[in-house]
Amino acid sequence: MGPRNTLGNTDIEASGLCLGANTFGWTSDRDTSFEVLDAYRAAGGNFLDTADSYSAWVDGNSGGESETILGEWLAARGTRDDVVVATKVSQHPEFKGLSGTNVAAAAEASLRRLQAEHIDLYYAHFDDEQTPLEETVGAFEDLVRAGKIRAVGLSNYTPERIREWFEIARRTGASLPVALQPHYNLVHRRDFEAGKSELARQERLAVMPYFALASGFLAGKYRRREDLEGAARAGMAGKYFSESGVRVLETLDEIAHRLEVEMPTVALAWLRTRPQILAPIASARTTEQLPALLAGAQLELSAQDADALTAVSDDMEN
Ligand code: NAP
Repeated sequence: MGPRNTLGNTDIEASGLCLGANTFGWTSDRDTSFEVLDAYRAAGGNFLDTADSYSAWVDGNSGGESETILGEWLAARGTRDDVVVATKVSQHPEFKGLSGTNVAAAAEASLRRLQAEHIDLYYAHFDDEQTPLEETVGAFEDLVRAGKIRAVGLSNYTPERIREWFEIARRTGASLPVALQPHYNLVHRRDFEAGKSELARQERLAVMPYFALASGFLAGKYRRREDLEGAARAGMAGKYFSESGVRVLETLDEIAHRLEVEMPTVALAWLRTRPQILAPIASARTTEQLPALLAGAQLELSAQDADALTAVSDDMEN
């Protein structure tokens, strides 16, 4: 994989593909998850993204399955110090929201499942407007001071609330966030580009886009709606089947074919051409899906190809 990048002003060095762990305990069983993690490590990857709530949406799961599998793998391989573990708080069914007591309790539960003494990057997963933001910022700072988390990240916050977090952190002397995790990919650009991108530049936030493959849509395996039948991510990937969505796929296909790489590789490489992007987050259900993602951390697109993709995706509504 390509070179590692430093996360903000921390000493955390992370690889250019962040491996999403929401498949673990959902579409990948424990053994397959271990295989994916082993293959990712062997290829030089060190950056893992999970959340305490993964994968509570699956029948029979209660949340925490992904962290548990990750923790068992870290213990089995003895690799805790060689990897960067990012997890998130606010959505676990037993630990909803971002009140001070909840953040403290949820972090302990995550540490237990991860079989770890610290979390490298701890994200506020979704904003909690019922809790005063000062309380949440203070709870994260308590975790930093206790050595339980090394850095703070934000996901799914509006630009206004991100600004507010920074203002409170500066005023109270708390650690500033170093990472932003927005929903961002070739068929979903506005949320990040209209507001957060500029803010990320101003505040020097490292950006890790999630749904980097639009839930598999940009992998190019669904060419017609019917192809989605039976797919676990059909609901999410299916919403991009507009005329402009199909044109994005055609352009990806043309570039991938010419460069003799796979479509997901080009989709991830495009994200890396965008400002402030440190590492796209994508998940692999199997080891067979992984090489195309790893290649996306290395491929340097020409300005002409990047511009062609940007132009065709300008027509998308989201
Ligand atoms: P994604 O990365 O856009 O899509 C990944 C899915 O695409 C895989 O699970 C696989 O699904 C398919 N795929 C991957 N490589 C492929 C290949 N080479 N060929 C064909 N299909 C391929 O979506 P995601 O996994 O949902 O999101 C990535 C990560 O972002 C998550 O694991 C999570 O860590 C993070 N995330 C964060 C938030 C947040 O609120 N902060 C929200 C969502 C996700 P199938 O094989 O099942 O089709």
